[in-house]
Order: sequence, then structure tokens, then C-alpha cells
Amino acid sequence: MQTAISSSDRLSSRGPEPSRLLVVDDDSAIRTVSRLALEYSGFSVTEACDGYTALSWLKSHRFDAILLDARMPGIDGFETCRQMRERLGMDPVPIVIATGLDDDVSIQTAFDCGATDFAPKPLNWQIIIQRLRALIRAREASIHLNGRSLQISSMLKTSSEAVLTMDRNAVIQERKHTEKLPEAVKEMFRPGCAFFDVLPVECSGRVAKAWENAVNGDSIDEFILQFGANGSDMNIQGRFIAGVENEMLCLLQDQTEAFVTERKMYELAYVDQCTGIANEKRLISELTLRLKQERDNGPSTVLIRCATSDFQEFEPRLGRSGLNKLACTIVSRINSRVTKFAKDTSLVLSEPPLVARISESHYAIALSGDGVRGDNIEELAQSILSVLTNCVEIDGFSCPMDWKIGIATSTGTTSPDALLSATAYAIQSGLAVNGNDRIRFYNSGVQENIGRAMELERLLRKDIATGALEVYYQPKFALSDRSLIGMEALVRWNNLELGPVSPARFIPLAEQTGLIIPLSHFVIETVLDQIVCWREEGSPAVPVSINISGHHLNSQTIVEELMAGIEQRDIPCHLVELEVTESIMIEGAGRALANLHELRENGVRISIDDFGTGYSSLSYLRELPIDCLKIDRSFVNSIANDPTAHAIAKAIITVGHEVGLHVIAEGVETPEQLTCLKDAQCDSVQGYLTGRPVDRDHFDIFFGGYVPRSTH
Ligand code: C2E
Ligand code: CA
Ligand code: CA
Repeated sequence: MQTAISSSDRLSSRGPEPSRLLVVDDDSAIRTVSRLALEYSGFSVTEACDGYTALSWLKSHRFDAILLDARMPGIDGFETCRQMRERLGMDPVPIVIATGLDDDVSIQTAFDCGATDFAPKPLNWQIIIQRLRALIRAREASIHLNGRSLQISSMLKTSSEAVLTMDRNAVIQERKHTEKLPEAVKEMFRPGCAFFDVLPVECSGRVAKAWENAVNGDSIDEFILQFGANGSDMNIQGRFIAGVENEMLCLLQDQTEAFVTERKMYELAYVDQCTGIANEKRLISELTLRLKQERDNGPSTVLIRCATSDFQEFEPRLGRSGLNKLACTIVSRINSRVTKFAKDTSLVLSEPPLVARISESHYAIALSGDGVRGDNIEELAQSILSVLTNCVEIDGFSCPMDWKIGIATSTGTTSPDALLSATAYAIQSGLAVNGNDRIRFYNSGVQENIGRAMELERLLRKDIATGALEVYYQPKFALSDRSLIGMEALVRWNNLELGPVSPARFIPLAEQTGLIIPLSHFVIETVLDQIVCWREEGSPAVPVSINISGHHLNSQTIVEELMAGIEQRDIPCHLVELEVTESIMIEGAGRALANLHELRENGVRISIDDFGTGYSSLSYLRELPIDCLKIDRSFVNSIANDPTAHAIAKAIITVGHEVGLHVIAEGVETPEQLTCLKDAQCDSVQGYLTGRPVDRDHFDIFFGGYVPRSTH
């Protein structure tokens, strides 16, 4: 198999004058590759980046052939072709249109616009170059025919193609250079045979048309003869030329190898190598065509994306080959449901359903038809989901998988990309359908939400970078003597455009986007500077607690960074406390727990935030590197009127004390709650009752201790 353009190819095309080609494509990369491939093969190449430029080249220059991209902004390839034909008049300059896919509609359109041939993308240069040469020769031949028959025969003498000489009834009279054809084909075209009698039926229509055009002197059309069991064992390219007097010539060239190469390239480019179904690229080309038809009032398309995040987990047990089997099982399950759906439902599909594997663990199904509607699509999605969540067994291992399905319709969508991302959006954050949040439909609200989140992220990133955030401090008081025992640092974001944004909104976003790390740095630096400031002002030294997210706690560098900040400012370590949630401790993911141990060994205090909402058993507390428990606001909130909440708070306090921890209640809002906590022997409190979070300039009043409101 030849994959590169050989040097003999290159030399053989060298005539006295190189053939002049005009290459029209809006994609500069494709133009460059085209130029390299074509110039290497001896053509002289002129580039045009769009239809207008191409047409203006045509005014001032002559070309031997034109290679034209079908899809271009501005006037597309088809329209450009039509205008070129007008401009070229009788001159049969070959125009080859490169279409996205080998699809009948584009091909037909190409021919309707006066194209001489089409070439499927991705372009196979071997084939293109041979076609261009053949077409250029054909044009020359047709020009020569006008009174220059001698030149024809000399041209035929040097032809690399087999030549059949026929009479006007297509009966073969003579043959030349047939050694260039496969033996079986050579046998068929013997002198005395009627050419059309030996053709495979499938191709006779096109060939008959080419014959007619050639006989009438209208045009020289190329055709492909396919012989063999599956129609592609032997591919012979041919064309008819009117010869001298009443003779007709048929030029045949064996293109089997080039076709095999083309097919292989197609498969590599458009087929998922593991499962044999369409891949993402194929899906995108298919969607491009369907969306285009839709714009011309065709039926709408629905895209269903099935995704699992569990797939990779099986690799250690199954190995790559097992994983491939798993993928094939998934495909056959999806296929079975889609086929059944297409057969059963009353809706008429305008195209066969296309199932594609778009990544290792994402599959997509494209359905187009007039009646493709939400309810029957949901039914299909449900049935796919149920078959996918049925545990698969591979080589004796069971592979349970959790699947999510995102669905989007093409209405209002212009690009396959947008349709694909809509299904991804739907999976991420769409609205639950009928309470089953595994299947989600995309709607514009989803995108709005995501759009808002992206805008929020952009503004937050900017404000963190410019230090536009602030830190507030909320006092914590001892219940025994009402003295200030510490404070919690709480970040505040007041954006110029949005106004104040609640941490409940931007902290989760910062966690998702990784902005939590720079945000956390900002808070830590601000707090440490503030501790120094208060020390210089002679204020009482109390611990300041900083909320640290799991993400940050997991990082390699947090211990180093925090300790460096503390040491540089000569701050006693016990004045810095970190508030972390239970889940970080329990899941013990990554380095988090080790980092906490190290920090605590250095003297930094650690507190468990929102305690009671997680799932840590109280007995586990002894093993954790902590100093303090913070009873979650939800218990404090109902402590005065809900016996269960009261009992839980009491239990936390008792067990906390047993293992030597300080216990603080947060979110204390009423004197009743305060009294209950005091009775239950809670150590300290924090909440709106005793002091709201305030900026550093307003914190001074708290240094003296808590003064109950009645005496304010
Ligand atoms: P949290 O750590 O549980 O912080 C306590 C929250 O309760 C704060 O909300 C505080 O303003 C509020 N609060 C205090 N007293 C009361 C009260 O009596 N009643 C009620 N209803 N609420 C009270 P805020 O400042 O909106 O912060 C919300 C959450 O955002 C915090 O919950 C914390 O998880 C997170 N957060 C705030 N600042 C930071 C930060 O600098 N870094 C990180 N990683 N997270 C932060
Ligand atoms: Ca906190
Ligand atoms: Ca809390």
C-alpha cells in the first residue's frame, strides 16, 4: 500500500509546463497541505481563501483544474462552482468539489452546480492527484477532439490507462495496455463483447449517462466500476472519449489500491477502533449534514448522550482487552434498545439512528424525524438506562456502572458542537425529569445557569487577583465569663457590578474551579497581617480561625506556606486555628489528614466545623488531630424547642469534653438558645446574638467581652 506520493509519481507528471491548479478553501491549514502535496506532484498551485477571491482569480488567470471546498463562509463551494461555470463558458475546466462526507445530497448538489467530480474529505492525496491528472487529461483530450484527433491518438499511446476502442454501439473492437487491469477485469472486456453487457448492474446507470455525454460531445464524465463480492474488491475508474471518426474510446485505470487506502483512512478517521461503531468525528459530520437539512425545513434531530464515570475503574481488574469487551457489550446493549425503539415506535425516522462512541465512556445517539419528541425520547432514554445499569459481567468480573443521560434537541442549534455540549450541560446541571435525575433534558435555563456561573467565575478571578475581597471577623465568647476567646475569619465579596455576593454562592464555585486556592491564600495572608496589626495596637491576643476547604488542605504545599507565613510574622502558632469539615477528616483523601497532623504538631489549632452534620462516629474523635468541635447551626437553631436537637447537642458536648476537646456552638441567635447551651455545659458561643461578622475597623468593641443586649 502506497501511503506517500512516490517520486516516480512526481516525475511522471512533469510535462513541459506544470498544470495550473486553483485551490479554494477557507481553512489555511488545508490550503497549505494541499499546496505541498500538489506542488510536490508537479502542479503549480494558486490559493484562494474564499469564493470571491477564487472568482476574481478566474477573471485574470487561466487554470487547468480547480479544487474547491464545499463548505466555506460567504458564498459556499456549490455557488462558487456555479458562478465559475458561468465565467468559464464552454471551457470544460475540471472543478472538483471537496465535500465533508461521501453523502449523496452534497454529491448531487455538486454535480448540479456544474462540478466535474467530487472528493470526500479527508482528502486522500493519492486519489486526488490521480483524479486531477485524469481530469486535466480529459479536458485536454476534449479540447484536442475539436479537430485534433491525431494528437488524441498520440496521447493515448503514452497513456498510463488501458484503452478500449469501441464502435458507436459500445461493442469493443480493440484493446490496448490492458496489462494494467486486474486479470479478471481484463478477461471481461474482450474484443467482440458489448461493453454494457459485462458491467455490474449497480454501476450501469452512471456509465450510460457518461457514454451519452461523451457521444454527444457534451462532457467527459468519470465513472467507477466496482467488481467483486462486496463491490469493492476491484475498483476501476473510467471515462469515455470520442475518438477519430466514429470511434469511441474507453480509458480504464485500476484504482483498487487507492480505494482500499481510502477506505482504511475512512475507517481510521471515522470509526471507533474498539467497538467498530461511529466515532466522534463521524457523529459531527453526520450532525453537520442533518442540521443543514434541518435549516432547509427538514425534521429535527435529537441527541442523547450516555455517560458513565465508572468505566476506567475496571481497568486494573479487566485489563485493556476486558475493557474493550465491556465497551462492546455497552454498544450492543445501546444498539438493541435503539433498534427496538426505531422498529416499535410509530414515529418515522428520516435517517437511520446513529450510535457513536465519542470518548471512552461517553456514547451518543442521533435521531432525526418529524415525530421525535420529548416523551418518546424519554421513554427510549429510560429503556437505555435500564439496560445499561444492568450489571455487565466480563471474564467472571461484574462491572456495575452508574449512568447519566443528557438529551438535547437541535431546535435553535446551528452547530453539532453546540448540540454536543448541550447534552454535556444537561448531564452536568440540567433539570431532573420526573424525579429521575439520571436523565436530564437540556433547556435554555441550563445554559443560562452555566453562563451565569462562568460570568461569576470571571469576576471572582479578577477580584481575587486585584485583592478586591475583604475579610470579616465574627467573635467567639466563653459562656463561663463572657470573655472573647477567639474569632472566625469570613471572606466577603462585594463586586462592583454584582454588589455583595454570598459566600454560600461563590465558595462552592471557587471550589469547583480551583479558585479556592488563590482565595484561600488571600484570606490567610490578610488574617496573618491582621493578627500582627492587633498585636501592634496592643489588643488582646486571641486565636483567629480560618476556614480551609478540602481542596486546599489536600495540596502539597499548604503546611509549608502556612508555617512560613506564621514564622515570618513571628506569630505564636496557637493564634491560628483552621476550621475544616468532618468529611475531610473521615474521607482522609490524599494528603489532607497528614497535613492536619503536621500542622497540629507545629501548634496550629484545628477545629471541626459544622459538627454533627457529617457521619463521624463520636468514638472516632479521639484519633483525629483536633482541638475543638463546632456544633452545627442546625442543632443550635432548634435546641430550645426540639428535644432531639437538644439531645444531640448535649451528646456532642459530653463526648467532646470526655476526649478533651473545646466545644463551641455556632449560629446562636436567641437568649433561649444561649441558656440551653450554657445548661448543657457548652464552652463557648458564636452567633448573631453575641456578635455579627464585622470588618477589622469595627471589631474593637468585642475585645472587652460580650455584653448582653438588654444592657446595651
Ligand atoms: P461557616 O464556616 O459555617 O461559617 C459560618 C456562617 O454562619 C457564616 O456565613 C456566618 O456569617 C454565618 N453566621 C454566623 N452567625 C450566625 C447566626 O447567628 N445565624 C445565622 N443564620 N448565620 C450565622 P458566611 O460568612 O455566609 O459563610 C458561609 C460559609 O462560607 C461558611 O460557613 C464557610 O463554609 C464558607 N466560608 C466563608 N469564608 C470562607 C473562607 O474564607 N474560606 C473558605 N474556604 N470558606 C469560607
Ligand atoms: Ca467555619
Ligand atoms: Ca460552620
